[in-house]
Amino acid sequence: MNHIGIDFDDTLVDMRKSIVEVLNKIHDKNINYEEVTEYGVSSLYNYSFKDFQTFFTDNQSELHAIKPNSLLKTTLDELGAEYKLTVITGRPNEWIHSAAQWITKHDLPILDIVCVSNYKKGKAECAAALKVSHFIEDRANDALSIADAGINVFLLDKPYNRDCRHARITRVRDWDEIKALLMR
Ligand SMILES: [Mg+2]
Repeated sequence: MNHIGIDFDDTLVDMRKSIVEVLNKIHDKNINYEEVTEYGVSSLYNYSFKDFQTFFTDNQSELHAIKPNSLLKTTLDELGAEYKLTVITGRPNEWIHSAAQWITKHDLPILDIVCVSNYKKGKAECAAALKVSHFIEDRANDALSIADAGINVFLLDKPYNRDCRHARITRVRDWDEIKALLMR
């Protein structure tokens, strides 16, 4: 059975949407996450990376209250019948539990969650070690390094990754398109 690596934040879960909603509430702002071209949305609220880490740790349960997109479970169930699905995330270990809980709560057919912090070269090295044939990702830098490692990447189209191009990277609109490409 072929193996697919799947990023977690903004690939499975719309975490930026959730982050912006919670930050808008805290700071009484009205930023529209869909228009944000910066990868690190919290910088729009003048957060340093350290501020963001504290915010994320303190608000994990509210941040994970977001539901999956309506067709995600059906799509993953269909893909899961043909492929082994593993979440491969750059999250630090302390934020893995909330990701695992979200996956379990929504009954998604993910067989394992792997944290890339144990791999010196990050996601690309991890994906190669796990012998995934395809990787689904939203972040340009990760997509490029995974593609450079010889793995085909489906890059979910986002305002912050539009410049990302590579022979092994296929830009996709959504999970429906990913399913169409993988199940043909
Ligand atoms: Mg991501």
